[in-house]
Amino acid sequence: MAAHALKAAAEEVQRWGCMRQTGVSLRYMMDFGARPTERRLLLSAQFLHKELAIRIARRALELDSLPFGLSSKPAILKVKDWYLDSFRDIRSFPCIKDATHELAFTNMIRMIKVRHNNVVPTMALGVHQLKKELELDPDPDPTHVHPDLDEIQQFLDRFYMSRIGIRMLIGQHVALHDTNPQPGCVGQIHTKMSPVEVARTASEDARAICLREYGSAPEIEIFGDPNFTFPYVPPHLHLMVFELVKNSLRAVQERFMDSDKVEPPVRIIVADGIEDVTIKISDEGGGIARSGLPKIFTYLYSTARIPVDENYGSTVGNEGFTMAGYGCGLPISRLYARYFGGDLQIISMEGYGTDAYLHLSRLGDSQEPLP
Ligand code: ATP
Ligand code: MG
Repeated sequence: MAAHALKAAAEEVQRWGCMRQTGVSLRYMMDFGARPTERRLLLSAQFLHKELAIRIARRALELDSLPFGLSSKPAILKVKDWYLDSFRDIRSFPCIKDATHELAFTNMIRMIKVRHNNVVPTMALGVHQLKKELELDPDPDPTHVHPDLDEIQQFLDRFYMSRIGIRMLIGQHVALHDTNPQPGCVGQIHTKMSPVEVARTASEDARAICLREYGSAPEIEIFGDPNFTFPYVPPHLHLMVFELVKNSLRAVQERFMDSDKVEPPVRIIVADGIEDVTIKISDEGGGIARSGLPKIFTYLYSTARIPVDENYGSTVGNEGFTMAGYGCGLPISRLYARYFGGDLQIISMEGYGTDAYLHLSRLGDSQEPLP
């Protein structure tokens, strides 16, 4: 690209990145998508045409101004290119006036979602490269979160939260095109999702990985009414329970691997309150030292070996298919919970075990957080 074209492109990202973002609530998405008429799909596409450009430009700008030279790490540059490519795709798409345009637009944003599939492990790799550099200058107190890294932590929280929102909006629009939706589904939202059912499939998936990695796996017991349902996005809940159960299984496994004792089961309790549905995941995996607790929600912290490949490309991409290692499981699960107004807390009894409390808002009317 010629210099003036590059400058114009950068100015356009700048201009869009400063515009105001518009949030939507779970309830709004559900009401809007309940009857996806041609007119509604058109309105939705027109909204996304503008909104996605704003949100993506904002992230591209932020990727440019990270501390400690993180912005110039090859992995981060690669992620930035994905954002810039997607911004360009959206901005070069003409005004959406009819159903044919709308379909073409839907295909394009579907492709954008695929392009960004590996953002989390690729970012993790960039951050890991930086972490290694910083470790040459280590903090003398190993219990400290490197105070300077707070900025990166906050950036990643904003960045991943925004990513969840962008993917929810795209996924929802694409799913509204489904001509044969499952009963009770409005796009990706299941109006009658059974948290016990989702917890069951997510824990089976986690257990399968544990079996593969360790050759054995603790039992998982689930308590709660399987007939209880509420509106939520099943893949989001699946991801959160999957991550929490993986952590619990790993802790129990590591603790009891070399002992003759029977591994104590991981217990999942689903409670339906008026405001919240709470899912508690309890293990007897020995807990987490109190000094380690402040670090568990940081993206840089894992007690597992890092599976990211230095010559990225080969192992990067199998997000979620190893027991542990990126150190992103907890912070990202918490973002998913918070995205629809919930939260995640970890309580530990060192020497005994850990309880994870996953709170999901039942009301569905909280607005998307818009970093
Ligand atoms: P991944 O990104 O693959 O999940 P990870 O499991 O190391 O990697 P997190 O899930 O964020 O990352 O957890 C961070 C750390 O917190 C873990 O490495 C582990 O040391 C500790 N931890 C989390 N859950 C538990 C638990 N149930 N029992 C004991 N330690 C835990
Ligand atoms: Mg984990």
